[in-house]
Amino acid sequence: MTRQRQLIYSIITAAPEHRTAEEIYELAHRDMPSLARGTVYRNLGILEQEGQIRKLEMPGAPARYDRERLPHPHLICQRCGRIQDAAMPPTLLEELAREQGVTLTGYDLKLYHICPACGGT
Ligand SMILES: [Zn+2]
Ligand SMILES: [Zn+2]
Repeated sequence: MTRQRQLIYSIITAAPEHRTAEEIYELAHRDMPSLARGTVYRNLGILEQEGQIRKLEMPGAPARYDRERLPHPHLICQRCGRIQDAAMPPTLLEELAREQGVTLTGYDLKLYHICPACGGT
């Protein structure tokens, strides 16, 4: 891994935040001022292709990057866009699969709320 990619990877894995490419660029640029925006975007693409990180497509908003590679649900604030990992009842997927009569091969579950900082609970 190049030094640039190592830095970008460490920013994503160091914290549970699900940052956008722009936020990752700002943090990386602080540590390595020579780093160009295009380099950050390119390396995010490579890390995603290699399966080191996951890219979360956000409808109507910039994609975010996740250090947790296994599928898991997300809790998203509708006001500020803050994303947290959410816990899921262990049998939920089995129940959904049984209900549909299918074998699930994956999922993408987003739960929306208003976070406490935005006046919700
Ligand atoms: Zn919020
Ligand atoms: Zn996540």
